[in-house]
Amino acid sequence: MKETKPIIVKAGNIEIGGSRRISVQTMWKRSLHIFSDEDLLEIKKLEEIGCDLLRFSVPDLKSAEILSDIKKSIKLPIVADIHFDHKIALKCIENGIDKVRINPGNIGAEWKVKEVLDFATVKNVPIRIGINTGSLPEKLINVEDKAQAMIMAAEEELEILEKNNFKNAVFSLKSSDMNATLKANRYFHEKYNNPLHLGITEAGPITAGIVKSSIAISELLKEGIGDTIRISLSDSPLQEVIAGREILKACGKSDYGVNIVSCPRCGRSTFDTHKFINEVYEDLYKIKKPIKAAVMGCIVNGPGEASDADIGITGAGKKAVIFKDGKIIAKVAENDSKELFIKLLKELD
Ligand code: SF4
Repeated sequence: MKETKPIIVKAGNIEIGGSRRISVQTMWKRSLHIFSDEDLLEIKKLEEIGCDLLRFSVPDLKSAEILSDIKKSIKLPIVADIHFDHKIALKCIENGIDKVRINPGNIGAEWKVKEVLDFATVKNVPIRIGINTGSLPEKLINVEDKAQAMIMAAEEELEILEKNNFKNAVFSLKSSDMNATLKANRYFHEKYNNPLHLGITEAGPITAGIVKSSIAISELLKEGIGDTIRISLSDSPLQEVIAGREILKACGKSDYGVNIVSCPRCGRSTFDTHKFINEVYEDLYKIKKPIKAAVMGCIVNGPGEASDADIGITGAGKKAVIFKDGKIIAKVAENDSKELFIKLLKELD
């Protein structure tokens, strides 16, 4: 029977599990071997737009050392993603990495597993067991019901954890098949009290990936299942974080940050809303307070939406009209609108 007390794990300053805030994760998309100072700026940007945890693939000891140097320069909690080699896991834990994703079942001999779990216990580093239909243990590859295969793999990992008296673990059961993901997560949640990391794996390019992820994740979140999420896109970490934040907001699980109302444009448009949104996109997502921003194209719906928002802009003939708190603040040429809009936006945070 399921223990009623939820397990809560802590990765850096982020708690996962119980009724803690649902965190948003992403994954670094390049090799650590080519990490540069410019990449540090990209990580800072991820932090500013609300990323809670950042995961890196750590395939070798050199990568573990590079990750340790990165850790000294950033505040964002770091997750090391490790397969097969227990020495890399030990090195990451020793170097103060905040969380390790590893599947004990694929690191071999029992003594190696024990060494990693014991050291993680000493250092209070949580582990994520990541079950994925793309990398199931060989004996489960041919199980037709992929949800069942994921559950069997997760239960095998749980057994290893229990044998080593290790509780500080988050689980994920991910598939590119939405129904398999839903079924496996529902079953796991019903039976076990470990926090769940949700996601549709290899969900696709930006539009397809967000649609699939939104449908599956929102169903689970609405049932009270899920403690942290990652939207896996064939796109940038920045887009993954923004998608994650938007899903949480749309499900009523977060009121963090901006709600953007924007016009899709039609023949009436006198203001290039697409260009403007692209130019202010990151600034909008840096806002932490729950505000509404409207970017509108013409005088049909523009003044109504813009005046109803905390900050709004609309095309009106040859000018762009900027609203704040329902009042017109300025009428400017389109080319001069961005700077003033961003200045007013920052004042709202
Ligand atoms: S706000 Fe104006 S430009 Fe934008 S879609 Fe509506 S009618 Fe068209």
